[in-house]
Amino acid sequence: MFDSLFTLYCEACEVASRPSRLWVRAELEVASSRGIETHHYLECMNCGYRFKSCMEDHMEAVGDDEWRRCVDDSSTSAESPSTLR
Ligand SMILES: [Zn+2]
Repeated sequence: MFDSLFTLYCEACEVASRPSRLWVRAELEVASSRGIETHHYLECMNCGYRFKSCMEDHMEAVGDDEWRRCVDDSSTSAESPSTLR
């Protein structure tokens, strides 16, 4: 699978000239003035840097709150821990 995500790289690793390894943690569809946009939430497996890509060449750092809300929620919704019976 080759798509635009593979043109992205982790800035912190790029600066240190390490190969960045990005992991797509979540995909969210967000309504904007330009229509539906897909935001990809990515995590660098080398340094743990978290960011989202809104457009192909634009990255934004993601704070802990947003990460928990968008990534943790969507990943646990399908497979919730069985702490409650
Ligand atoms: Zn990195």
